[in-house]
Amino acid sequence: MADVFDGAGSLLKVAQLGNPILRQIAQPLTQEELADPKTQFFIDSMIASMPEYSAAGFAAPQFHLSKKIIAIEGTENNPRYPERGSIPKTILINPEIKKFSDEIKAGTEGCISVKGLWGEVKRSTAITVEGWTREGKEVTIDAEGFYAVVLQHEIDHLYGTLFIDRMENMSTLAFTSEHNRFQI
Ligand code: ZN
Repeated sequence: MADVFDGAGSLLKVAQLGNPILRQIAQPLTQEELADPKTQFFIDSMIASMPEYSAAGFAAPQFHLSKKIIAIEGTENNPRYPERGSIPKTILINPEIKKFSDEIKAGTEGCISVKGLWGEVKRSTAITVEGWTREGKEVTIDAEGFYAVVLQHEIDHLYGTLFIDRMENMSTLAFTSEHNRFQI
């Protein structure tokens, strides 16, 4: 019989810039750890937290768990990214980028752990990622455009890297209000 809490998850608090967990290298999960109900509940909680923060994606260290888990929200109804096209809801365990396109493009990024700031980052326009589904099945994703950017941003979190570390031109750093005002 299904428990009343099955699949419910709980709202998770976001670690902010300066919290050491954002700078640690996250640990990979074993199949046993992934199958553990506690891990599955954590993944449910990542999903349950998406609407609260209206972010494109999350990495487990942002929720104080230094493990290799990322969650990407489908962007259809995301007010933060109205014109970026649609990307599929994605849960990836132990993701690794196997291929980067030579083509690089600059885009503006933000992060719920670097609250209220936006800046320009250059990323590969297409990547190939290997990892596991939340059921532990191997999966390969060929991503391009905004999906590829979000995957690179979230996988960076698993290595203690934030978008501000990748900024080449710090003069593009802006508060959300001024970013919206001046379209930097
Ligand atoms: Zn982030």
